[in-house]
Amino acid sequence: MSDLKIAVVGCAGRMGINLLRQIAATDGCVIAGGTERPGSDALGKDLGAIAGLDDVGIVVSEDTAAVIAAADAILDFTVPAATVAHAKLCAEHGTAHVVGTTGLDADQDAAVLQAADKTAVIRGANMSVGVNLLLGLTRKVAAMLDPDWDIEVVEMHHRHKVDAPSGTALALGKAAADGRDVDHDSVADRGRDGITSARKRGDIGYATLRGGNVVGDHTVVFAADDERIEITHKAADRTIFARGAVTAALWSKGKGPGLYGMDDVLDLA
Ligand code: NAD
Repeated sequence: MSDLKIAVVGCAGRMGINLLRQIAATDGCVIAGGTERPGSDALGKDLGAIAGLDDVGIVVSEDTAAVIAAADAILDFTVPAATVAHAKLCAEHGTAHVVGTTGLDADQDAAVLQAADKTAVIRGANMSVGVNLLLGLTRKVAAMLDPDWDIEVVEMHHRHKVDAPSGTALALGKAAADGRDVDHDSVADRGRDGITSARKRGDIGYATLRGGNVVGDHTVVFAADDERIEITHKAADRTIFARGAVTAALWSKGKGPGLYGMDDVLDLA
């Protein structure tokens, strides 16, 4: 069987570089292209060189349409507006779209969903095996405990992160809401400051920490009177997300149009 041709959009970013390295280190796939935003210093450089690998003979391009047309799958860890544009191009060319970008608003989400009518779209706010297990555990624990147990999601990321709470924190809150069979948005308390009044029974609260080069820590706290359960995942290296993304791209081979999650890819559903 021929190798899966994978392109990395936003290939000079923190995740982009890890994704290039992961494709190069994985059997069954090849680096087929890479894009960057107009004006990026990386444009025109060899994809191998920007990832600290041997040259691969393909340079970073700003011709996104051509790169997506030539690939079987793209890995997209960029920014929401770019991800929407990539979704449309993937739908047009039947290229599988692995979406890691977080912070999409409702309209941007809908645009990505629409593309899933035409091609395989695999989305994961967090592509690591450990966090996907944490999501399942959170859903399960929330289903077993009554709302006298307060649920709080605490996350910490590096100082450069631009969205808050993290996509993973929100996914954990949604998993807890699913477990309790309540609408997440009606119970989410996404930030407290000043005289907030007492905590409402059944709320799911969020707290965000930013600093240093922390790759991503998430804790779900279930707090009752006199006892507390805390489940934590700590990411030490971006490789765990890159590995998940490349696994997702390989899994997409032969899959029809549709919206898939990492639980499908990792067979955790
Ligand atoms: P980053 O800023 O280092 O990288 C983003 C890259 O996208 C940059 O190089 C930027 O120039 C590029 N870009 C922006 N617009 C573009 C366009 N129109 N075309 C091509 N490239 C474009 O950020 P990062 O830390 O790598 O994170 C990127 C995204 O991935 C964030 O939303 C982050 O939350 C998310 N993320 C998700 C996971 C996951 O497992 N799902 C893990 C880590 C990060």
